[in-house]
Amino acid sequence: MLVLKFGGTSVGLPSRMKKIADLVLHTQGQKIIVLSALSGTTNSLVTIGDNLLNGEVNKAEDEISTLEKHYNSFVSELFDTEGFKAIGNEVISRYFILIRLLAAGDFDSKSYRELLAQGELLSTELFYQHLQERKINSRLLPALHFMTIDENEEPELEKISLRLKPFLKSLASVNVIVTQGYICRNHKNEIDNLKRGGSDYTASLIGAAVGADEIQIWTDIDGMHNNDPRIVKKTFPISHLTFDEASELAYFGAKILHPSTIVPAQKYKIPVRLKNTMDENAAGTIISHEGESGIVKAIAAKDGITAIKIKSSRMLLAFGFLRKIFEVFEKYRTPIDMISTSEVAVSVTIDDDSRLKQIVNELHSFGTVEVDKNQSIICVVGNRLTENKEMLQQVFTSLRAIPIRMVSYGGSYNNISLLIDSIHKESALKSLNQGLFNLR
Ligand code: ASP
Ligand code: MG
Repeated sequence: MLVLKFGGTSVGLPSRMKKIADLVLHTQGQKIIVLSALSGTTNSLVTIGDNLLNGEVNKAEDEISTLEKHYNSFVSELFDTEGFKAIGNEVISRYFILIRLLAAGDFDSKSYRELLAQGELLSTELFYQHLQERKINSRLLPALHFMTIDENEEPELEKISLRLKPFLKSLASVNVIVTQGYICRNHKNEIDNLKRGGSDYTASLIGAAVGADEIQIWTDIDGMHNNDPRIVKKTFPISHLTFDEASELAYFGAKILHPSTIVPAQKYKIPVRLKNTMDENAAGTIISHEGESGIVKAIAAKDGITAIKIKSSRMLLAFGFLRKIFEVFEKYRTPIDMISTSEVAVSVTIDDDSRLKQIVNELHSFGTVEVDKNQSIICVVGNRLTENKEMLQQVFTSLRAIPIRMVSYGGSYNNISLLIDSIHKESALKSLNQGLFNLR
């Protein structure tokens, strides 16, 4: 069994949706197809939801009409026969009746989450009807029947697996099973989601739940690159990554993969392959258990980081001091990324600064607090990278002209993280590309 996930741009045009059907046809064996919403749809649903929460009903209605028109023209191109064009239009009108009903009711966070789910429901139903038009042996399997999260918003992998097994048994003779990415039910049985970009995560949860041979994530780039192609001219796709390397890269900036995707795949040792819908013959990236040690694989950067330094003589020879500091971050549900300590000071970085004010206020009771915004974490990734003796020297030689604010080395075998002011990011990525890959 294969699980293939196609992202928003891969289904975003009728011609691309047709191409996916071709691709699926040419893949051997039974497969589960996980789809995102058409590109732009979830953003548009977010706009509608925000408008409705702010009481801007007219704006929301305009956006709903624009979105509906987009789908009408999509359908007219996707289907060939009059019969299926009519089915396509019926699908669209049914979903837009629901969207307008949600908008007309008491709009709250529950209706908002239901609204967000419509994108994936629409894309999968249209794709399924397209497969029907082409007489491809397929079924639609609603994710809301099996994909659930618990009260901590954690996917319930065992339950998902137990629910999927009988479904798959009854679908044993079906070639292509289509389901929605991103959407799920929460512990109150309400419609919910796995957060933005969560379709990748759906694919890997399903892959783990059914013990798939491989999970394939199809996007619009030919795999994970060794550096950020938006900033550095010469980059190349990495042919192989370990699960740990891929997790670090997904978290620290490589936008191609939702960071949680690796977790279920790694737990059940199911390889994840990243492929390019626009160029299906490109090798892509394979992520698995095996890997070579000590080789620098990639450089990534994460922006929008805030550094907080707490300086206190009370820390000197004291125990329990760090715990008290960390408790402040825990209280405000703010994860810490990097830490660096000296005897009288500790620096940490955070990505989510929405509770920064409250955090800083409380930290003042421990000593002086300095805050630096607009920082970037530069991350050098490789399997057991720290075993490579020259590598550290190469990193620092490459970055000799750049002021480094924090360094994290040895926390994991697989990465070195450096904190710099974001104004230096571009030159840091370029210098490291030169120093570590000999590429300008
Ligand atoms: N459609 C959702 C989003 O845009 C989920 C996804 O595409 O992965 O965030
Ligand atoms: Mg995505």
